[in-house]
Amino acid sequence: MIVEIISTGTELLLGEILNTNFQYLSQNLNRMGFDVLYETTVGDNEKRMEEVLRTAMERADVIITTGGLGPTRGDITKETVMKVCSREGYLDTGIWRKIEAYFAKRGTVVPSNNKKQAIVPNGAKILENGAGTAPGIWLECDGKTFILLPGPPAEVKDICEKKLWNIMLKKFAGQGIILSRILRLRGIGESLTAEIIDDLIMNQTNPTLAIYARRGETIIRITAKAENSEIAGTMIENMQEKLMKHLGKYIYGADDESLAGILGRLLLCHNATIAFAESCSGGLASSLLTDIPGSSEYFLGSAVTYTNMAKNKILKVRQATLDKFGAISSETACEMAVNVKNLFGSSYGVSITGNAGPSASEDKEVGLVYIAIASKDAVYCQKHRFASNRTENKLRIALTALSLAIDKIKSENKNTAEKK
Ligand code: AMP
Ligand code: MG
Repeated sequence: MIVEIISTGTELLLGEILNTNFQYLSQNLNRMGFDVLYETTVGDNEKRMEEVLRTAMERADVIITTGGLGPTRGDITKETVMKVCSREGYLDTGIWRKIEAYFAKRGTVVPSNNKKQAIVPNGAKILENGAGTAPGIWLECDGKTFILLPGPPAEVKDICEKKLWNIMLKKFAGQGIILSRILRLRGIGESLTAEIIDDLIMNQTNPTLAIYARRGETIIRITAKAENSEIAGTMIENMQEKLMKHLGKYIYGADDESLAGILGRLLLCHNATIAFAESCSGGLASSLLTDIPGSSEYFLGSAVTYTNMAKNKILKVRQATLDKFGAISSETACEMAVNVKNLFGSSYGVSITGNAGPSASEDKEVGLVYIAIASKDAVYCQKHRFASNRTENKLRIALTALSLAIDKIKSENKNTAEKK
């Protein structure tokens, strides 16, 4: 069943608003097994909208429009669909009464323009809108199904979730299902990932693989299409196994798992606590960890020590260390990690010191960062270079620190587990 989504509204073409309705509709339709093969955006112009609608009728079975059901002259979607389908309409008194009640509840009179929202094409089904005045419309025409939805995202969701998805699933049953799983990788970029699994990518049909970068990590999305979710799930499992063989050491989690979540679970599991001393990451590592509900069980606190003075006064990094090696050095990073651990009395202390760019400081190269972790009686430091923009660097730096903590805690506790 081929679906085309037509997003209407000149504001979309001007780039003033983001087409979130398309993302919402497409994600849901794909999950239900529909093939969303086309998306067209068109302004509030009758001639061009008519062209787009006629083209959609030639290539799609189901045409879903969003936007343009409002009361103003610029809202022309329903009128244009009626023209393309040569369909007259009538004033639906039920809808009109609801519109009147909607305005009465807000203590205002109904503008006469709103009458056009109560016009229903002959033979159409009404999709009630619980979040606004314009109902959705379901209209069959020349063997095609038109589904007209309003523009405001809350109204689109209301209609879809309360009504439309059920009707579509019933009417177009037997579509099959599409399932996706996201694998998250760290320590490897998009292009190297693609190179390593080139064979799998070249031969992909079902499941398909997509590789992309998102928020400082590399993502592989596996998508399987099958009769039911059980079969699709097995197909995904099999593909994941193949990917693990090639990329296992980089894959740290799936779907909603995050590095912060994994670190939190590890700390809980080993009854350990952590504190951070952050410089160039500005507290981001701490922020990511405290995004996890229940993080107060293991996150004791952090010190954002941006200046040398703060590193010295708060964290007691020796002035001699700062003078001799500079703030961006493994010596400073190690002192920060040990001292923040002692300051908070935590099992682990993680420190980050470096330069997030774009300009150099201390005569050290841009993007140079030291990350250290102190545990009971050891401290370990890593040197990294980050080469993105400042915002992206900060995120990557913070994620690398979480990642280092995960590795260290795992390796330390592997020894104790083995001893037991
Ligand atoms: P309309 O019904 O076309 O007048 O749209 C009303 C409002 O809904 C617009 O001003 C936008 O704020 C929002 N809207 C319309 N289309 C979209 C879309 N495709 N994605 C997200 N928001 C939208
Ligand atoms: Mg509009």
